[in-house]
Amino acid sequence: MSDLSRGDLTAVTVTGNQELAPNVRVISFPRHQPFRAGQTVSLALEPGGPQRIYSIASGEHEKEIRILYDVRHGGKVTPHMSRLSSGDTLFVSSPSGTFLGTPEPAWWIAAGTGVAPFASMFLSGMHQGKVLIHGGKHRQSFYFSGHFLSLMEGRYIRCCSRETGEGLWPGRVTAYLARPELILPEVKYYLCGSTEMVVETRDLLIRRGVPFARILAEIYF
Ligand SMILES: Cc1cc2nc3c(=O)[nH]c(=O)nc-3n(C[C@H](O)[C@H](O)[C@H](O)COP(=O)(O)OP(=O)(O)OC[C@H]3O[C@@H](n4cnc5c(N)ncnc54)[C@H](O)[C@@H]3O)c2cc1C
Repeated sequence: MSDLSRGDLTAVTVTGNQELAPNVRVISFPRHQPFRAGQTVSLALEPGGPQRIYSIASGEHEKEIRILYDVRHGGKVTPHMSRLSSGDTLFVSSPSGTFLGTPEPAWWIAAGTGVAPFASMFLSGMHQGKVLIHGGKHRQSFYFSGHFLSLMEGRYIRCCSRETGEGLWPGRVTAYLARPELILPEVKYYLCGSTEMVVETRDLLIRRGVPFARILAEIYF
């Protein structure tokens, strides 16, 4: 319910709105302004209508912006956004945000659609020295896995809480991280997704000696 207005919106034409899994879609439109990997935009279905914030999931040099989103039953924006198709109009703010990817070594930790900014960082060429730990409920929840597997094999861990399958670690992200030998206090940790995952993971990292200043969080509230 992040109804945060961000000034002037630009009208863009939707180029695609594909379902990736039940109630999870990627909507795309031409890039209207430059952005940095990890930034967000506000989207609205009409000028003056409710605005919601979304992480950009495409690379900095791509001509298109893609947004990965959950369709929230009873929500004011996403159920309507899920019905848009190519040629329809969407209203987009300027990109903003400080959850920015860098070339430094880091662990990227995501839940669900919270993997979007890491897809943007990956597609912007920042995968070296990174570990990605992605939590999802189902086998289909590992959005953009084709990209991550291509260049991050062994450093891309898919934690699946409700199903098992080849290449999946059985359990939640916080269970995976619970092993003390895993945590390196000297790297940076980027956390993105639900409040629950971000808060639990942040507390776990702090208990394991990671300085607060090394933890960056983006919460999808
Ligand atoms: C920095 C940031 C980045 C984000 N990035 C993404 C992203 O990349 N992808 C993504 O999917 N989301 C992202 N979000 C979340 C996104 O901004 C929206 O909050 C989300 O899409 C829901 O919008 P909505 O209008 O569909 O639902 P809303 O209208 O906001 O409602 C959300 C839920 O609350 C329920 N609800 C609404 N009003 C009430 C009420 N009065 N009482 C009880 N329940 C109620 C609705 O039924 C619905 O299920 C991000 C949020 C932030 C802050």
